[in-house]
Amino acid sequence: MQALTWRGGRQVEAASVAPPVPQDGWSLVRMAYVGLCGTDLHICAGEHPRAKPGLVIGHEIVGRLVEPAGSVAAGAAVFVNPLLPCGSCRPCRFARYNVCQRLGFLGIDRDGGAAELVAVPSERLVPLPPWLDLKRAALIEPLAVAVHAIRRGQVVTGYRVHVTGAGPIGLLVASCARLEGTASVTISEPSAARAAGARELGFELLDDAAADRSADVVLDCTGHPDASPGVLKWATTGATVVTVGTYPGVVGVDLQDLMFRELTVVGTRAYTREDIRAALTLLERGEIDATRFITGVMPLEEGAAAVQRLRDGGALKVLLEGPGA
Ligand SMILES: [Zn+2]
Ligand SMILES: [Zn+2]
Repeated sequence: MQALTWRGGRQVEAASVAPPVPQDGWSLVRMAYVGLCGTDLHICAGEHPRAKPGLVIGHEIVGRLVEPAGSVAAGAAVFVNPLLPCGSCRPCRFARYNVCQRLGFLGIDRDGGAAELVAVPSERLVPLPPWLDLKRAALIEPLAVAVHAIRRGQVVTGYRVHVTGAGPIGLLVASCARLEGTASVTISEPSAARAAGARELGFELLDDAAADRSADVVLDCTGHPDASPGVLKWATTGATVVTVGTYPGVVGVDLQDLMFRELTVVGTRAYTREDIRAALTLLERGEIDATRFITGVMPLEEGAAAVQRLRDGGALKVLLEGPGA
């Protein structure tokens, strides 16, 4: 079968590989669409600490079940929850699977969905309503990240919200914040192309130099070390700052400022089953218009070109299309 494989370094190629053989309790899914994101770019640059060369990438997966699994029929449309919690650590024992101490992901720690077929734990299958277009459903994974961040930040009606970074996650976070009936949602973004994308979605862009300490909740979606020292300057006294973007290591924050103004910093990691449900509902109802975020759909065979397109910038969300579409 065809699969998009990271070979090591910056080398990524669509090539023929042996199809996966599902172990006990796992199922085969015929990929319909797989979204590519910043994490995939990190893997394909050799920058991800856990990915091993030879990996089939892709963790934003929708497709069709090959054989029936439990109550889910063969051919049914499914979203694949890519989290692989260990099930035995302390957070897992308290059902906090998204912060499992040994959390793995399909497409990072094991072969993922950028392939004709992907093997997944059957309990990770989320059946999709037949009327939901699979292309839109491909946005469930990043949207669940945004839903989780909004929940963690306790964004409510009337709040002023600021989002740093207008990549796909930043824009989804800002869109979810707007749905909560917030007084304002502003975005800061240094890239002119990304800022233009945010304006197209109707968001007000603020210059980094114009930060005025007015937001009740700041959602930091950059993950860029240069941005971290400045993140508190958007927050009003008593505000909550949510870290959404993944930082590559230890970064600087002014703890004295945090203390004097009683700011709350909240971490977020991935999403829960409830967040996935909520993301699915937002797409189903059209409250989040997936077509505004999906800027390209390319066949699986052109996966390497799709990765390059994301590296070049300008594209927001690029999907690979497989035989399940
Ligand atoms: Zn992703
Ligand atoms: Zn665990």
